Amino acid sequence: MPPGPGEIALDVTACGVCRTDLHLCEGDVALRHSPIVPGHQVVGRVAALGEGVTDWKVGDRAGGAWLARSCGVCSYCATGRENLCERAEFTGWDRDGGYATRALLYADFALRIPEGFDDMAAAPLLCGGVIGYRSLKVSGIRPGGRLGLYGFGASALLTIQVAVHWGCEVFVCTRNPEEQSRARTLGAVWAGGYEQMPPAPLDAAVTFAPSGEVVLAALRALGRGGTVAINAIHLDGVPAFSYDELWWERSLRSVANFTRDDAREFLALAREIPVRTAVDAYPLAEANRALLALSRGKIRGAAVLTV
Ligand SMILES: [Zn+2]
Ligand SMILES: [Zn+2]
Repeated sequence: MPPGPGEIALDVTACGVCRTDLHLCEGDVALRHSPIVPGHQVVGRVAALGEGVTDWKVGDRAGGAWLARSCGVCSYCATGRENLCERAEFTGWDRDGGYATRALLYADFALRIPEGFDDMAAAPLLCGGVIGYRSLKVSGIRPGGRLGLYGFGASALLTIQVAVHWGCEVFVCTRNPEEQSRARTLGAVWAGGYEQMPPAPLDAAVTFAPSGEVVLAALRALGRGGTVAINAIHLDGVPAFSYDELWWERSLRSVANFTRDDAREFLALAREIPVRTAVDAYPLAEANRALLALSRGKIRGAAVLTV
């Protein structure tokens, strides 16, 4: 399929497998278009340019992420909040994504992949990395602050590297003892289970586990004025809790999508730190096996399809 006006065609080389893909496949998140090719952490080379595209050339390395396009004119888009645009389109939800040999991206929303990352290593940056970075911003954590990370999958693995780079004291809660020890290796000052309380009140926390119980565990660990940023597109529900736990200006905030500025800032930071990604590679033809492994918690880093 040739690219339309404003689009670029990408020969896909790698595509990350995200929990959101699993939510779509399992019906937790409703399909907006059917059939749909999933995949929104797409890396490849520009193969063809649509009409009017001037800032890409054939052969350039490019990435496609979750935000496929926003309208550019609504009140959200006009105020730097294109992630909230009501007419936004999403890769692998509204538009075919990267579980494919070729993908079409809007040129204005395609991302430059920083040097220092091969295609496989770059793919997980495009969702887990960027959304984790936005979650840190939403949580209001400041350099040197006390940050809790709840759940320690692909996104948290990247997020902790940014937080440590910022000089934060990072406390990680996750059920899996292996993940707890990996968190310590990556610079967490403390790691424990969800039922354990970090040894000091947190300034902010980010939850990655798609569980309302975990959100409440994070809330209970906050100091006064602290924020829990919920990094999840789907949550089964949040159990009732006492207002005393929210009192003293604690906040619960969801994190929805990201803006191109978030993506560019994070990709620049990823190169500067440099962020290390851990990849479990699967051939494209085994995408279902990768999704199954993700649903069973068998992925150690981030699953990436090689195309
Ligand atoms: Zn994702
Ligand atoms: Zn808009």
